Amino acid sequence: MSWEVVIGLEVHVQANTKTKAFCGCSTAFGAEPNTQTCPVCLGMPGQLPVLNREAVDKSVLTGLAINAEINLESKFDRKNYFYPDLPKGYQISQFPLPLVEGGHLMIPTAEGEKRIGVTRIHMEEDAGKSMHADTGNVSHIDLNRSGVPLMEIVSEPDMRSADEAVAYLKQLHQLVRFLDVSGADMEKGQFRCDANVSVRHPGEPLGTRAELKNLNSFRFIKQAIEFEVIRQIEIIEDGGKVVQETRLWDSARGESRSMRSKEETHDYRDFPEPDLPPLRLSKQEVDSIRAGMPELPGQMRVRFEEEFGLSAYDADVLTTSRELAAYYEDLVAAVPEDPKRAANWLANELLGRLKERSEDITASPIGPKQLAGLIKRIADNTISGKIAKDVLDAMLESGQGADAIIEKRGLKQITDSSAIDAIIQQVMSDNSDQVEQYRAGKDRLMGFFVGQVMQATRGKANPGLVNQRLKVLLKG
Ligand code: ADP
Ligand code: MG
Ligand code: ZN
Repeated sequence: MSWEVVIGLEVHVQANTKTKAFCGCSTAFGAEPNTQTCPVCLGMPGQLPVLNREAVDKSVLTGLAINAEINLESKFDRKNYFYPDLPKGYQISQFPLPLVEGGHLMIPTAEGEKRIGVTRIHMEEDAGKSMHADTGNVSHIDLNRSGVPLMEIVSEPDMRSADEAVAYLKQLHQLVRFLDVSGADMEKGQFRCDANVSVRHPGEPLGTRAELKNLNSFRFIKQAIEFEVIRQIEIIEDGGKVVQETRLWDSARGESRSMRSKEETHDYRDFPEPDLPPLRLSKQEVDSIRAGMPELPGQMRVRFEEEFGLSAYDADVLTTSRELAAYYEDLVAAVPEDPKRAANWLANELLGRLKERSEDITASPIGPKQLAGLIKRIADNTISGKIAKDVLDAMLESGQGADAIIEKRGLKQITDSSAIDAIIQQVMSDNSDQVEQYRAGKDRLMGFFVGQVMQATRGKANPGLVNQRLKVLLKG
């Protein structure tokens, strides 16, 4: 009998607010340990939290972007547990009454778009970080992260494969970056995912799930889910039972191990947070956040297709990030007559070269104006597309503009037909046998002649003109 995989994801997204969720400390990443702390986020007794409105607004915006309900009244709760990086002994979160409920994301799959439900988005605070020294039995605690606002985005168990889970995460990652509600840098822990995985035969009730933690890249998420699916199927097919547990992915070994079973799961004894009043929003406040909604990737994709005549594929590539889309718009503004050529040179040539260097558009040494400078020289026939690729390489290497490189290297295309005629005559007299064969009807020798002329001019002859003049002169 066939197996069906069931996956639900819990994603913790750090909101990119200037200050923490319940105090005025900075959230800047990478500061000296414990320099961004105060009595509130250090968990000193008797300190009162004050809710950061920017964190609320960003969570509401995220909810609106996935078509969710915004609860005009939500509540904060305490999740109690002891851990060295949690000095208060509890985490402020939201349980029975979260800020955001419902909503969905559409993900691309091989069978077309699929709707993945979002159960809720609640606000909570991050814990500090334990740093275990490589030598000696010492651990250090950095509380700079303590109290940084998080949005926990919980999905319905709607995904049916590791690929769907990754597609959902990429969609969510792109969305929070477009909304500018999170930096979502996975390497900095700003976008973290726990995956709940179970298997069943189609039509059966949900199977027992394992929760996978420590998944800090799209690649590990895919590997960990695929590993877990095989593990669970083997257990069941061997007559065993999957136990509900939390498992930790070990990326070095490519396997997971049990961290704690359901029996060991903490009893968090959640109870209402007495130091924070209920979070109340007016309909007007929600509406004004909605009015500030930026253009979302899907809308931008459609606009790029319509406004610039791009293929669905190019529009998709160019809207993968806000920075890339902005680069493209600046580029088109500089070469408004050539949006398609601009898309091609950005998406294929420049991005391809950046990718080889493991960089993205934000690290490009060539800005939109400079790339436009190159495109203009192709459009006005100063250089051919082929030569332009070499010029782009040189631009990346030297940081110089297209014109300077074309000038210095003498790459200007030969568009003077008398100059081209002279070269053609030379090629014809060097290859009189081929000329005879061509004249006797061997048409396909045309390619040979074009090649010879291009070689003689080191690619600088205008290919259209070469073809045109060859046809005339070869006739004799
Ligand atoms: P908890 O917060 O205690 O981990 P929840 O019931 O809130 O538990 O579920 C968390 C996540 O697990 C949700 O994303 C949900 O969709 C997913 N989930 C629940 N049951 C299953 C299951 N049987 N298989 C896969 N995912 C599941
Ligand atoms: Mg969970
Ligand atoms: Zn603080």
